[in-house]
This record gives sequence, C-alpha cells and structure tokens, in this order.
Amino acid sequence: MICIPITDATHQEALRSVARSAMAADLIELRMDLIADGDLDQLIAAARRVSGRIKIIVTCRRKEEALLPPPLDQADRKKGMTKTAKMRLLKQAIELGVDFIDIELAEGDKAIKQLQSFCRQQKSSTRIIVSWHDISKTPSLGTLKEIFQTCAQIGADIVKIVPYARTAADNLKVPGLIAYAKAQDRKIIAMCMGDLGQISRVMALVWGSYLGFAVLSGGKKSAPGQLTLNTMREFQHLLPGHQRSIQPGLLPPDTLNFVLLGNPVRQSLSPLMHNKALEAMQIDGHYSAFCVSDLAQAMTGIRGMSIRGASVTIPFKTTVMDYLDEIDADAVALGAVNTIVNERGRLVGYNTDWLGLMQALEDKIPVVGKTFVIIGAGGAARAAAYGIKKEGGRPVIVNRTRDKGRALAARFDCPFYPLSAIGKIQAHGLVNTTSVGMYPQIHQSPVTSAALANYQVVVDVIYNPLKTKLLRDAEAQGQKIVSGLEMFVRQGAGQLKLWTGKDAPLVLMRKTVRERLETLET
Ligand code: NAP
Repeated sequence: MICIPITDATHQEALRSVARSAMAADLIELRMDLIADGDLDQLIAAARRVSGRIKIIVTCRRKEEALLPPPLDQADRKKGMTKTAKMRLLKQAIELGVDFIDIELAEGDKAIKQLQSFCRQQKSSTRIIVSWHDISKTPSLGTLKEIFQTCAQIGADIVKIVPYARTAADNLKVPGLIAYAKAQDRKIIAMCMGDLGQISRVMALVWGSYLGFAVLSGGKKSAPGQLTLNTMREFQHLLPGHQRSIQPGLLPPDTLNFVLLGNPVRQSLSPLMHNKALEAMQIDGHYSAFCVSDLAQAMTGIRGMSIRGASVTIPFKTTVMDYLDEIDADAVALGAVNTIVNERGRLVGYNTDWLGLMQALEDKIPVVGKTFVIIGAGGAARAAAYGIKKEGGRPVIVNRTRDKGRALAARFDCPFYPLSAIGKIQAHGLVNTTSVGMYPQIHQSPVTSAALANYQVVVDVIYNPLKTKLLRDAEAQGQKIVSGLEMFVRQGAGQLKLWTGKDAPLVLMRKTVRERLETLET
C-alpha cells in the first residue's frame, strides 16, 4: 500500500490535496502539525467523499522528529501545539473513525496507553502506529531492533521506524529490521529518509513493510528522498514479488467485467489498454466496448449484470449522470462522469479525465499560481478548466464559438477570449482540447507556430497522432510538451484503481497504447 502525506500549509490547500490523493493512493496521512487551521472533520469527510476505500492516518508529528519545517507563519501555532492539544486531536481522530493514528514512542507510555484505552472505550477499530524517527542518522541494526521491541511491547498495532540514511549501506539495515518484525508476526513500516535512502523506499514494500510513502507529482514532500507516486508504482511493477504487497480479495469473483459505453466506440483503444492491464494485474476479468444507442437500457444492464465498472465516453458523459445512485464531488463540480463503479448494484460515478490531465501536466510544470490558456469549450476543456482551477492555477478559455466559450468561462469564473485573439494572450501554458490536428488532419494546428513563443509548456489532448503539429511546432521552439497519450493512460489508470483498488501498470499501458498508435501511423 502506498500512502500520500498531506502537508499543505492551509486547510483549503489541504482539501485540494486530499481530493487528488484520495483518488490516486491507498492511504493518506493527514499531517496536522503542518496544516494550519486544518479542520480534521472536514478533511476526513473530503477524503471519504472521493473514495470509499481510502484509508486515513492522522499524525501530529513532534518537531524533533520532523524534517519538513512548518511554514514561518505557522511557527506560533507549532509552539502552541501542546501535548494536551495533540492528545485531543488524536482522540478526535479516533472518534471520527480513522483507520490509523500515529504517535511517537517519545511521547511516552502514558500517552500511548491513554490512546489505547480511549480506543477500547469507544469500541473503535482505529489502529495505533507507534513511530520512531531519527532525522540525522541510522543507528546500528541492533539498536533499531531494540527500538522495535520497545514499540511492540507498549502494544503498538503497527511499529514505524524511519531513520536517516547517511550512507547507501544504511539502507541494508531495513530488510534486517523488517525480517525481525515479521519473524514475530508483527506489522512494521520501515525505510530510510534522505536522498541516499531512496532505494529503501522503493524496496520496503518488496521486503514487507506494511506501507510506503510517496508524493503526488508537483506535491510537497513530507520527508527528503520521497519519490512520486508514479515512480513508486512504476518500480513496483518492475520489481519481482511486488504482487505480495497487494491485498488479495478486494474483488468478489463474480464482478470482474468492465465495459466501455459510447457511440461510436470502434476506434477506441480502451479495450486494448485495459485488457493488457487486467492481465498484468492478474485479474481474471475482461473489458469490452459497447456501442450504445439506448443509454437507459445499457444502464439497466450494468446494474443487473455482473459488471464491476464502466468507462463512459462521447456522447454520454453528461447524460449518464441521471442514471447513477451517487456521484463523486469532483464529477458533480465538473459536470461529467467518465467512470462508473458498480458497488453491488449501486452505481457510483467519478471523473478521472481531469485527474489524468493534471497528473500528465504536473509532471512537466507545477500548476499552482500559473495561467493556462485552454483552447476549446467542450468536455475535455471542462476537465482541463476544472483541474487547473482545482490545482490552484488560472484557466483562460479561448474558443471558436463565442457563446460556448463564454458559458464555460462563466462556469469556472475565468476570462474568455475569441480564438482570433490568441496571439495577444500571455500565459505559462497552452492546452489544446479541440480535435484540430487529429488524424487524418495531421498537418493542422489550432494556433500558428508564432503564437506559441510565449508558453513554457504546450499540451495536446489528442493522442492520434502521438505528436500533433501543435506539439511538433512547440517542441521545435524548445517548449515542454505533453501528449494526449499521457492523459489517456492516466485517466485509464485512475479507472482501474477505482474498479479494483489496485495500482494499474502505467508503464505497460503507455507502451501498449503507444505501440498501437505507432502501427497506425506507419
Ligand atoms: P467536444 O465536446 O465536441 O468539444 C470540441 C471543441 O473543439 C469545441 O469547443 C469546438 O469548438 C472545438 N473545435 C472543434 N473543431 C474546431 C475547429 N476546426 N476549430 C476550432 N475549434 C474547434 O469534444 P471533447 O469531448 O471536448 O473532445 C475534444 C478532443 O479531446 C477530442 O479529440 C477527444 O478525442 C480528445 N480527448 C482526449 C482525451 C484523452 O484522454 N487524451 C480525453 C477526452 C477527450 P466550438 O465550440 O466552436 O464548436
């Protein structure tokens, strides 16, 4: 399992991170020592709205064990976080039914025992992680084992031991420590902090650490050496034995069929990509495309048959919302659903398009505080405007048809310009969401090459061809480019995660789609 720490400085920023992270990861850790004015109740509710499966850890790290300093304006709050306030917060987390609270061994037996007895009183299933961090070195394996033993004897449900790697050899103590815990049938989270500790972060899950930590692309690390979620996942799928860390039994055996609902669907690459991924994930299921003429009938079929999940594409992304039992907050705000999860007859709608686009974009440039021109005013433009706004960026809508452009801009409270004015706009990035440049019109671009000069990054949601004329022009001028392939693969990975609870093999999916598109291009 991979956990994303939420380390934002304000409650509003943390809410945004929670929404992104809860969809992408298995767990989130709310670092309440860092989130100024953080409202625990609201943060937990936000995570659960996004995903019914997300697990939550609540932590209020002692400053002596934290490498990430609180922002300057939080210094007073930090000083003010007394042990009494910390205990109150951890008890509140237990009352709110979080999966784990994390308390440091250094807080003492008395505090830990108090929390254990509070859990019992509340008949709570919250588990207590007793943690120990050394932010400057890694002691000997013998010392680490003694620390483990102290945490275990105090009654920790899970022990967490994270020292700082000063040399590459420090990493080698981690497998020994994990094996020591496993020999006693105890759960342990162990890895080394620091740039030299990265290898232990990658390997910890293979060695048997209960979980690992990662950060979203462009997100703030809670400890040095943390890798992005995508990098961690890519390593997981490359390393032998990674299946051992995946929890079995998430899916009942009769719910492994997946469908694409759209019209037309003949050209879709989703069946190829998803079936390859399902096979690699060792899920005995199948994904098929259905060309739908009667959406109501198709939805009755999904509800009644053993179909675990569906992708939704043109022209049903909006109309399908009328047939669902529940719609996730992002999909409601965006006004479109591209993913359905069948929770034993209850149909829940999500949108992974915006998230896929944001993940692809944030691999190249942090969105927060930046301005992005979006060309187009259809479904893909809506996903782009929503994602950019949600990530703290500023969208600007540019469209051929003024009324449609103005309506989209009004929805997201952002400026609108007609397509003819594009050369006069200053922005950090450009996102093409029109179909201009799509196969077979591969020599067309929605903007002239000269108009691209001002941008740092240029994105095209089109993936056929892999490199549109727009991207070729931008690349020739030295700008960073993002192909629609990245968005496509990542929105698909988001769907698989929602359907199966497992991480999708992103590298394989990218390779599969890329190879098929290259065949089409030749
Ligand atoms: P849509 O709702 O039909 O919207 C298309 C937009 O493109 C409209 O605003 C339209 O402008 C504009 N447009 C079309 N032809 C144009 C032209 N010749 N000149 C200027 N503007 C033009 O379509 P959509 O659902 O947003 O999809 C758009 C593209 O995104 C498609 O190519 C689709 O395959 C791609 N897409 C990719 C992914 C991915 O994962 N990579 C996901 C979703 C969509 P008007 O308002 O003036 O008509």
